Amino acid sequence: MAIERTLSIIKPDGVEKDVIGEIISRFEKADLHVAAMKMIHMSKEQAEGFYYVHKDKPFFNSLVEFMTSGPCVVMVIEGEDAISRVRELMGATDPSKAAPGTIRHDFATDIEKNTIHGSDGPEAASFEVPYFFSKIEMVNSEE
Ligand code: ATP
Ligand code: MG
Repeated sequence: MAIERTLSIIKPDGVEKDVIGEIISRFEKADLHVAAMKMIHMSKEQAEGFYYVHKDKPFFNSLVEFMTSGPCVVMVIEGEDAISRVRELMGATDPSKAAPGTIRHDFATDIEKNTIHGSDGPEAASFEVPYFFSKIEMVNSEE
């Protein structure tokens, strides 16, 4: 197993529902650690750039509108197999299909307002982490 870093976002609905602390607590209890964190209100351009892989999807404009509707908490999460383990803690994209005890099952509103983002693999993580954080903003806890 390897120490990995992944990008996670508590989306505007999660901030609105006051579950920032609850979500971070779930990561920490799973022995995953916050290596960087900030609260931002994304511009349209920033949200479009982040989700550019979905630019041709029918839900793209609505997703960008949602992600710019309020502040988000963006975080770098670090730990053993952090990429897949954050995805497990999140649950399925559609909260009605998410397993009990997952973040989306417990807090998400619908398939769009689904509370949390996590990089879906190493390639995504290597694009998404530096999209929001410079090297100097991250703790070097694995070194
Ligand atoms: P994320 O990338 O946010 O971690 P994910 O990898 O589970 O979520 P993706 O397929 O990458 O899901 O979709 C990105 C985001 O777009 C979803 O989290 C959700 O907010 C929104 N989305 C996905 N599918 C739909 C849909 N069918 N209708 C509306 N919004 C959707
Ligand atoms: Mg995704």
